Amino acid sequence: MTKLYLAIPCYNEEEVLRDSAQKLSDKFSKMMLEGKITDDSKIVFIDDGSKDKTWSIISDLHKENPVFQGIKLTRNRGHQNALLCGLITLKDKADAVISIDADLQDDINTFDEMVEKYENGCDVVYGVRSKRETDTFFKRFTAEAFYKILNKMGAKVIFNHADFRLMSKRALNAFAEYKETNIFLRGMVPLIGYKSDIVTYERFERLAGESKYPLKKMLALAWEGITSLSIQPIRMITGLGAVVFAASIIMIIYSLISYFMGFAVSGWASILCSIWAIGGLQILAIGVIGEYIGKIYLEVKRRPRFIIEEFLED
Ligand code: UDP
Ligand code: MG
Repeated sequence: MTKLYLAIPCYNEEEVLRDSAQKLSDKFSKMMLEGKITDDSKIVFIDDGSKDKTWSIISDLHKENPVFQGIKLTRNRGHQNALLCGLITLKDKADAVISIDADLQDDINTFDEMVEKYENGCDVVYGVRSKRETDTFFKRFTAEAFYKILNKMGAKVIFNHADFRLMSKRALNAFAEYKETNIFLRGMVPLIGYKSDIVTYERFERLAGESKYPLKKMLALAWEGITSLSIQPIRMITGLGAVVFAASIIMIIYSLISYFMGFAVSGWASILCSIWAIGGLQILAIGVIGEYIGKIYLEVKRRPRFIIEEFLED
C-alpha cells in the first residue's frame, strides 16, 4: 500500500476549492477502502499568497477533515514555485506525491493507474492529455507550438504533459538536488532519470473561476522554460552572426570588383539598411545574452525559492 500525498498549488481559488476538496476526499476515501493507499495519506493545498478566501477555506477544510493539510506561502511566487514547495516539503512524509491543479482539469480517476504503475516500479508517472478539446483553439495552438519549440531546442519535455504527475520518494529526493532558482518543473523532472511511464486522460474544463494563467503568465512560463533549459538561443544568434558576416564579405568583394571594373557603387540606402540591420541584430544578441546573464545573477544569489508562513499539518 502506498502512502500517497497530493500537492495542489492554489492561487485565488475560492470558487473551486470546496468542490475540488470534496471530489478529492471522496476519491481518497474510495482508494483507502480499496486498500490502494494508506489511511494516513494526505491532500495538501499550497496557498500561493492568495488574496481571496483561499487560505481560510483551507484552514476550515483542515479542521473538518484531517485528510486535508495546508501550506501557506508568505506571498505569491507563481505556480512552479508553489508546486516546488509542495514537492520538497512532502518528500520525506510520503511514499509518493501526485501534483495536480486545484481546478481539477486533470482526471483524478487516473490516480489509481498512477499508483499501480508506481507500485510496479515506476518512479515517475506522467499524466498526458489525450485530447485538448476543452482548451480554447488559441491555447491548444500556442501549447503545441511551445512543446515543439522546446524539443527542437534540446529540452526533452513530454508532449502534452503539464504538471500532473506522480513522483516517488526516491525521485523526489533526486529532484531536491536540483537547486536552481529558475525552475521549469516539467523540463527538469525528465532529467532525473529512473524508470518512468505515462498515463493518458482527457482534460476537463475548469470547475469554476478563471484561469490563473493569463497570456502574460503563459508567455513568461514559456520563456522561462526555454531559457532555463536550453542555451540554443545563444547558439542560434552565433549562427546568425556567422551568416551575416559571410554576407558582408560577399558584399565587400562585390563592391571591390565593381570599383575596379569602373561602375560606381550607387546609393547609400543600402549602407543605411545594413547599418540598421546589423544594429538590430546586435541589440537582439545582447538581449539574449543579457537574459542568460540575468539568470546567472539570479542563480548566484541563492535566494530561498519559497518561504513557508504556516503549515497546517497535525
Ligand atoms: N497557480 C498558483 N500560482 C499562480 C498561478 C496559478 O499556484 O501564481 C495555480 C492555480 O491555482 C492552479 C494551477 O496553478 O491550481 C494552474 O492554474 P490554472 O488552472 O489557472 O492554469 P490553466 O489550467 O488555465 O493553464
Ligand atoms: Mg487549469
